[in-house]
Amino acid sequence: MDELPTTPEAANHASTETVLKRAGIDPTPLRLAVIQVLAREGRALPAGDILALVQDQHRANKVTLYRILDLFVEKGLARRHSSGDRALRYCLEPGSAGRPHCHAYCLRCGRMECLPGVEGVVDMAALGPALAMEVVAVEVRIDGVCAACRRKPSVPETPVDAGSGNS
Ligand SMILES: [Zn+2]
Ligand SMILES: [Zn+2]
Repeated sequence: MDELPTTPEAANHASTETVLKRAGIDPTPLRLAVIQVLAREGRALPAGDILALVQDQHRANKVTLYRILDLFVEKGLARRHSSGDRALRYCLEPGSAGRPHCHAYCLRCGRMECLPGVEGVVDMAALGPALAMEVVAVEVRIDGVCAACRRKPSVPETPVDAGSGNS
């Protein structure tokens, strides 16, 4: 008999546990905490941010966290992204494996949002034949400045050379 989860938290817990088990991963409390953070945030997070969020409820250190993240990536549950800065970011691979999704990366604050599938951006069906290649993965990252950063008064990133002749 299936017990029906009664709260969103319980439902979330039940589904993430199933996701881990299906991937052949033993659902330890810490692994569940990590996957729940990723599921809740819905964006790609640097490992340091994931650690901080997990540490709200669990004792965890960076080494353990990286081991869990590596395991998730290896099992196809999560994706690892490099970006403009040095921090690797991780997000959940939604749905079944092999359905890539896009990312929008803010060059100012480093926020990396997960976007829906790449179908609207990349013609997956045509890509393989066009490249004469068996396409295994597609990475699409759109770089820009996010809405929150655009609302802030902008700090010029490269000084404009206009005031040099002022007296
Ligand atoms: Zn931003
Ligand atoms: Zn993502």
